[in-house]
Amino acid sequence: MKFPFVLATANPDKAREICEVLTDAWDHALAAWALDVGDATVGFLVSTPDGIADAVAEVRPVDTPPDVEENGATLEDNARIKALGLSHAYKLDAVADDTGLEVDMLGGAPGARSARYAGDDANSARNVEKLLTALDGVDAAHRNARFVTVALARFVDGREVAVQGSVEGTITDAPRGESGFGYDPVFQPREGDGRTFAEMRADEKHAMSHRGRAFRALADALRGE
Ligand code: IMP
Repeated sequence: MKFPFVLATANPDKAREICEVLTDAWDHALAAWALDVGDATVGFLVSTPDGIADAVAEVRPVDTPPDVEENGATLEDNARIKALGLSHAYKLDAVADDTGLEVDMLGGAPGARSARYAGDDANSARNVEKLLTALDGVDAAHRNARFVTVALARFVDGREVAVQGSVEGTITDAPRGESGFGYDPVFQPREGDGRTFAEMRADEKHAMSHRGRAFRALADALRGE
C-alpha cells in the first residue's frame, strides 16, 4: 500500500483500532491525522510517522463533506460507497469497512442495515432493544449470529481489493458489560469464555473480532501493492 492513503471513517476509535491492526501486520508504525471539513471529521490521513507532516501539508482541501450515505444493499456496497467518496474527494487511495450483525433466526437481519436497524434516528441502545424484542422467547439454541466486516481498499486508478472477516456467536437475553460499543453487550462469541464482547478488554475483543480479522486479511492482501 502506498502512503499516504485515507481511512474512510469518521470514528477516531475505529481509526486507532484499524491502524493498530495494520501496524502489527505490516510491522511498521503508522501515523494518522484527522481530515476535517468544517467542524466534522470525515476521515483520517494515514502515512508513516516520517511522512505524515508532508502528507498533511500536501493534502487537497475539501469544502463540502463527501457524500457517503450508507444506502447499499450489501456490506461491500457500503464499504465501497465510503471508500469511493473519500478517494474522489481527496484524490488518494482509500480504505473503508462496513460491519453488520447477521442473526440466523431473523433471516440475516439486521445485516447491512445494522446501524439503522431501529430507524433513521437509531442509536446503539435502541438497536439493541429492537433486537432483543425481535428475539423475545427464542431459546438459546436458536440465537446464533455473527458479526461480519468487509474491509475494502479502493485505488485512484480504479482497482479494488475487498476481503471479509467474521466471528460466530449468540445473542444474549439481556445486555451485559460496559465496554465496546454497538451490539457488543448482547454478543457472546462462541470461541470465548462466556463473556460478551462488552465484558472483554479491547485487546481480547480485537484478537477474535470480525474487524480485526478483516483488516489482518486486508493487510496481507495489500502487502505487495
Ligand atoms: P459500521 O459499519 O462500523 O458503521 O457499523 C454498523 C453497525 O454495526 C453500527 O450500528 C455499529 O454500532 C455496529 N457495529 C459495528 N462494529 C461493531 C462491533 O465491533 N461491535 C458491536 N457493534 C458493532
